[in-house]
Amino acid sequence: MKKDSVLNPFADRLAALVTRLRRRHLTAAIVQGAYNQRGLIGFGCDNGRLLVPSDGTAPVFYTDFRYIPEAKRKSPWVKVRNLTRFEAEAAGLLRTGRSKVGYEGAITASKFLELKKMFRRAEFVDVEKDLLLLRAVKTPQEIAKIAAAAALNDRIWREARREIKPGMTEREIQRIIRAWMNALGDGESFETIVCAGANAAECHHVPDDTVWRRGDSLLVDMGVKLDGYCSDMTRCIRGSAGRKNGIPSRYDEIYALVLSANRAAIAAAKPGITGKELDAVARRMITKAGYGKLFGHGLGHGVGLEVHEYPVASKRFNTVLKPGMFVTIEPGIYIEGELGVRIEDLVLITKDGCEVISQSPR
Ligand code: ZN
Ligand code: ZN
Repeated sequence: MKKDSVLNPFADRLAALVTRLRRRHLTAAIVQGAYNQRGLIGFGCDNGRLLVPSDGTAPVFYTDFRYIPEAKRKSPWVKVRNLTRFEAEAAGLLRTGRSKVGYEGAITASKFLELKKMFRRAEFVDVEKDLLLLRAVKTPQEIAKIAAAAALNDRIWREARREIKPGMTEREIQRIIRAWMNALGDGESFETIVCAGANAAECHHVPDDTVWRRGDSLLVDMGVKLDGYCSDMTRCIRGSAGRKNGIPSRYDEIYALVLSANRAAIAAAKPGITGKELDAVARRMITKAGYGKLFGHGLGHGVGLEVHEYPVASKRFNTVLKPGMFVTIEPGIYIEGELGVRIEDLVLITKDGCEVISQSPR
């Protein structure tokens, strides 16, 4: 295939970035975050600078010799050059007057100071949020990859459920899930959370030697990585403790409440709703039942190259959801020393609603 006939699958996102740079009167953006690079050209690394000019000239990816062959292979649509040429070439672009340059606010202070030293006269403008918003709307290829990671996550949960048994420790259960993720995928998106019984009251409990006792509940929050993309899902196995003569235990009541909040938010997830409004749908229901203070985290987050991305469904996120965005729906209630319930599904915002991607039984 001829080089110029190979299309960058992220071309639209890159073009949208250029539009944003122009709107903000920026001469260029210097993108140094590996995930942001990857979301614009298909490759990213920890020692690279992607120079995106706003004047329509082609972006150039600069990196050191270790990454050059892979960058060329994975991003044949972009010019790849040695990082040693970056300063001189970028200076040529930024020389005219007092240029405004986009950078990512999340880069380390040392990386930022390095840029400041190179381009003393430039004014640096944080474009991190622009990049995250652009990455939030997935390309068709990305949608397929995230859906594949979520489907594999469902399969791993099914396989793991056959192996995990009361009497095992949280760590042993974590190891079983991890082994499946390593065997069938590219490992974990994040450290698998396994909480037996009352340990589930800690949202991000680190699995330890606590034994999962017969009759106790179990909470598992897991996500497998596949082809660079993440998945994320939480399931609770309901215990039997406290259930007497068919009368539901407090655990069962709370489980039913969290499940209704999850369902209500899924029903409300559609283009046009803000992250804040979506969060409120689930929060209202839980608050009305008297547990509002025990739902201490946001409803959900985007998933993609990273497990936590934009959009955010929380009290503070006013950004409007759009088709092509993934968001998790994960209401939870945590009672210290007693129990914790969280039910997390990954959904894809579509033209007129959402598609539930997580298929594991709840
Ligand atoms: Zn999760
Ligand atoms: Zn999550």
